[in-house]
Amino acid sequence: MFMHNKRLQYTVRVGETNPALASLLLEQFGGPDGELAAAMRYFTQGIGEDDPGRKDMLLDIATEELSHLEVIGSIVAMLTKGAKGELAEAAKDEADLYASLNAGGNSHTLSILYGGGPALTNSSGVPWTAAYIDSRGDPTCDLRSNIAAESRAKIIYERLINITDDPGIKEALGFLMTREIAHQKSFEKALYTIQDNFPPGKLPGIEKFANIYVNTSQGPGDMEGPWNSGPQWERIDDLERVMSIDGGDGQASVELASDELETLQQLAARTKSNADDDPETGVDLGAGPGAGRITDRDCGGAADIQDAADQAKTMKIAAE
Ligand code: MN
Ligand code: MN
Repeated sequence: MFMHNKRLQYTVRVGETNPALASLLLEQFGGPDGELAAAMRYFTQGIGEDDPGRKDMLLDIATEELSHLEVIGSIVAMLTKGAKGELAEAAKDEADLYASLNAGGNSHTLSILYGGGPALTNSSGVPWTAAYIDSRGDPTCDLRSNIAAESRAKIIYERLINITDDPGIKEALGFLMTREIAHQKSFEKALYTIQDNFPPGKLPGIEKFANIYVNTSQGPGDMEGPWNSGPQWERIDDLERVMSIDGGDGQASVELASDELETLQQLAARTKSNADDDPETGVDLGAGPGAGRITDRDCGGAADIQDAADQAKTMKIAAE
């Protein structure tokens, strides 16, 4: 069960009304790296988790993320509060209210549609979606994804901290940013308490392909580093060697039933192209200057194209 405590996890002190900033902060309310996405990511993982330690951790962090959602949502609500009242009560004349809606960001949608919010959208007004959650139900996959999600959230907070000089907001965002660091640490620990956590899953990789680095992009800018060179790598620069890497002929084949083969042959016969034909097409009929060579048939060469160009020029002059 959930219980709610009316005190926020971190006190929100906002200096002044700023709907434009509020709309930018929505990125961490209803955006892909925001707090609702984090809460739902860990909550659903926690419900499905069988390991008691991970289950406990995931539900703890999921619940804390909901508390963060409350903090960031409260900042948005405080930033729009003054503007919300003015708009609802028509406290200024039309021109001033109109101007206040165009403060920047997505603040006009936040005010007009969501009445100051907080709205479950990102900073561009895109509605929150469960598609932000990429859990796969495998602990090593999901913990790695969680680590990446925490690092993304940390970076977004950092960017938001850099665009406000309101000390109270800076402080609260700094707290939220720091908690993402703590969560990343917990997820890293949880990942490495799983023995043999790499590669993910149960099936081993195929030994002879696991150490190969294929230099598929060649030319100036080819670099070497521990990611592609050294004793643990078999680096392949001769791309002929990897076509096909299994030693086969590199073709795709399938065993078909005789009736499947028959219908495919019918299809192939019906749609066969004739390379000996050079048909006249729509572009031949409508070709003007700049069309290039259309067909090998006698349908006009450079002279005709020049004629067409001259004609177009005449028409233009006539139009003037
Ligand atoms: Mn958080
Ligand atoms: Mn977090």
